Amino acid sequence: MTKNVQSKLWLIFLHLVNLITTSPVLFHIILAIILTLGLSNCSSSIPNQKSNGHTHFTLVDKKLKEHQYNKPIIIQHGRRKVMYCRTHHRWEVIRSYWNPKEMDYEYYVIKHPKN
Ligand SMILES: [Zn+2]
Repeated sequence: MTKNVQSKLWLIFLHLVNLITTSPVLFHIILAIILTLGLSNCSSSIPNQKSNGHTHFTLVDKKLKEHQYNKPIIIQHGRRKVMYCRTHHRWEVIRSYWNPKEMDYEYYVIKHPKN
């Protein structure tokens, strides 16, 4: 019984592969879907921020303080980035951590020592 289902699934899969490889339109659709998924994945790494006008991006850190930067804040988990904060008029070190419980990034902002 299960073997039957498996071979059926395999046939469907082969049929799909056949469709994708023979139809350039479908191939492009699949490619577009993959690209869209990839892009939405990317944009999920810039939460807690909204663009005000065109020039600055607001970031709310773990202490619920608001900071404004002139570039979007894209930092991978465990990484840090130095950016100029327009709210506090100083250079700041932003650290980013992925919170699996919240399914969102958390940001810790500290003053850059060179201020
Ligand atoms: Zn700041």
